[in-house]
Amino acid sequence: MDNLILIKYGELTTKKANRKVFIKLLASNIKNLLKDFDIKIRFDRVRMYIECSNPNVIVEKLKNVFGIHGIVICHKVNTNTDDIKDKVIELLKSKNFKTFKIKTKRADKNFEIHSMDFNNIIGGHVLKNIDCKVDVHNPDITVTIEIRMDGTYIYLNEIKGIGGYPVGIQGKGMLMLSGGIDSPVAGYLALKRGVDLECLYFESPPHTSLEAKNKVIKLASIINEYSGNIKLNVVPFTKLQEAIYKNVPENYVITIMRRMMYRIAYKVSLKNKCKIIINGESIGQVASQTLTSISVINSVTNFPIIRPVACMDKLEIIDIAHKINTYETSILPYEDCCTIFLPRHPIINPDINKCILYEKNFDYESLIDECVNNIETITNLNETNYNEFL
Ligand code: ATP
Ligand code: MG
Repeated sequence: MDNLILIKYGELTTKKANRKVFIKLLASNIKNLLKDFDIKIRFDRVRMYIECSNPNVIVEKLKNVFGIHGIVICHKVNTNTDDIKDKVIELLKSKNFKTFKIKTKRADKNFEIHSMDFNNIIGGHVLKNIDCKVDVHNPDITVTIEIRMDGTYIYLNEIKGIGGYPVGIQGKGMLMLSGGIDSPVAGYLALKRGVDLECLYFESPPHTSLEAKNKVIKLASIINEYSGNIKLNVVPFTKLQEAIYKNVPENYVITIMRRMMYRIAYKVSLKNKCKIIINGESIGQVASQTLTSISVINSVTNFPIIRPVACMDKLEIIDIAHKINTYETSILPYEDCCTIFLPRHPIINPDINKCILYEKNFDYESLIDECVNNIETITNLNETNYNEFL
């Protein structure tokens, strides 16, 4: 294994007391992600090092790991001036730059040339071989040469990591995942803050199709690339939804339906040790997301509900959906239980007392229990198996 990848932790280093826990979890998340590769991981308080033989492939994977701030590919050579010169030229030849700087760090004091002198030797060699200039203050490219006991590591500029906290550091949240654009983005943003996810999808067959369900499985699989632990709970919502349409005035069906969804999400969260519910609601986007609607719907539970995209414009949400690769799947034209039988004039300022009154028209508690007790749980969501669903 001739290469070393160096990982910088970023934001987690500010959490002094929990630092050890953060770093251990990050290392375990990385080990889990790279379990099929022949690698060695070691870490200290400021850096993590991965020894491997295929750094470019590994770096692509690491770009999706929350908790990583910067990634550097180090190239290992024997500690002798000629090998170092050759490697520096080989690395720089493939780059487009006008100015550079050499920065030598000499951890192995047995190496007889001092750092400053070595900067000059290697810098001079670069100037002889490549048309460029030295700029020690603001170079286009910095070549770092670390001379260590086990060899010399050479690296160029840092690759930006995705940031955030290691997934799982905050425990788990229950993501209400529909087939739309917003909820996968909400899930991604929660993962970024270290919240691992379970997903909850309400399906109403035969009013909603198998394609609609498979689309949600695919979305869960895409966001699972940032976690590896995500499960999808599919709630059989048909009977409850039909009871709502039978017993509630048309303009209130969406409000009541969403109150039922929250009640179920709360019960399933408790059952699965989730500390919060997460959803893709965005203020003012539809009738059920006006401030009055949010408050009337939310009043069925004291459980915390986090809405990561609440204050984003649709275009900002779409930008993220493109970035995380969920957009193309989200726009596939399959119906959701919220869009079937959509009333012509859903209420935008619902009255809480009317909701309570309408809910007395039918025994929703037992229907809710039936939903919760008949959930289908899908595990093993990954890139290779989600393609077979669509
Ligand atoms: P869109 O991108 O079209 O707005 P959406 O998923 O945001 O899709 P909304 O009707 O705005 O759909 O629903 C608001 C939120 O409620 C969703 O983001 C999601 O968290 C939750 N939700 C809606 N329908 C379902 C469903 N069938 N299963 C699980 N959660 C749902
Ligand atoms: Mg929405």
